[in-house]
Amino acid sequence: MIDVFSPDRVAANAIPFSRRSFLAKSSYFGAMYAAAKLLPLPALAAELAEDSRISQTPIVDKGFAAVRKIGEGLYATISDPSKGFQTVCNGGFLAGKDGSLLIEGFISVAGAAFQLDALRLVSQVPVRGALDTHYHYDHSMGNAFFGANGIPLWAHANTAKRIVESYGAIQGADKAVFLSPFEKAIKEAKTETARKHREDYLAHVTNVFNVSNSTVLALPNHPIDPSKLPMKVDLGGITAVIESYPGHSGTDIIVRVPEQNVVYAGDLLFSGMYPVTFDTQATVSGWRQTLKTFASWEKDTLFVPGHGPVCGQEGIAVLRALFDDIEEQAQRMHKAGVSAAEAADLYEIPEKYKNIAIFAWDFSIGPTITKLYAEWGAK
Ligand SMILES: [Zn+2]
Repeated sequence: MIDVFSPDRVAANAIPFSRRSFLAKSSYFGAMYAAAKLLPLPALAAELAEDSRISQTPIVDKGFAAVRKIGEGLYATISDPSKGFQTVCNGGFLAGKDGSLLIEGFISVAGAAFQLDALRLVSQVPVRGALDTHYHYDHSMGNAFFGANGIPLWAHANTAKRIVESYGAIQGADKAVFLSPFEKAIKEAKTETARKHREDYLAHVTNVFNVSNSTVLALPNHPIDPSKLPMKVDLGGITAVIESYPGHSGTDIIVRVPEQNVVYAGDLLFSGMYPVTFDTQATVSGWRQTLKTFASWEKDTLFVPGHGPVCGQEGIAVLRALFDDIEEQAQRMHKAGVSAAEAADLYEIPEKYKNIAIFAWDFSIGPTITKLYAEWGAK
């Protein structure tokens, strides 16, 4: 077991990019990704290979993430967790003539620092703010970097509370006690498939525990009241529009640049991946409605997803189809008298979706099925 309080670990975490801190972080994720195929991720969806707005050469590529120009003053930071865990989620930045806006706190201060360094390769304008698209740990654990650098941190008004409740609450907790229900669920699994799903779940939950306990949490100081959205931010030649939509976390914020048809979607979009719906405030019907809205935007809209390659409307269509397929199979099981809990493990991945990534079954496909059952009033 990893001792999260050992002086060794504290020292390792104090040095961004050091080999030791990288190895420490890797060990968390080693367990987490043990079952996953860690193939290098393309930064762009295939259908965008010819899109002239996107520069084929990144302005910087560190392996764990690369930053690419996707519009006038618009950049996407695309992570590849097969090469390191400094960022894990995607992000990006908008650099206007008068100011810039950074998107995401990433999973570590090293990730947040990497993105500011990338911005400084192309622009020296003042940073107006950094924005967490939602509270989840892989988007917010690098927030302390912004605090240390005097950069205002923007997020949905409920983000600070959710960070404290979800990650602050497990700081200093007894790890064995915290993990025991997840270990119990593995022992009680009735099928080999169920056991495998619970094991993946334990690996991810362990990772959340370890990262939470080795991070100095930093909270947004610029809460965004969703009832006051949309909000326009003039950066000088670039107008960012901040909007909120339901679906993934109850704190989801997107940044749109309508003049260029570019959308930083956060985790309301998983590109080439099954949707992650575990959050208590995730809503399947709400999320599908949000995707319908995204699909109604211009045909040539570029989306920077929370995870996976930059995509166009094709990426929205795939995610909608995945929701449809899960619903179809869940409905069939419900009609056949299968309970929600059983159905959650029984979804079969169709041949055509064999290459769609799954971020742990119990964070994605399982809860999508149980939430659908709940929406139908079924158990
Ligand atoms: Zn998320």
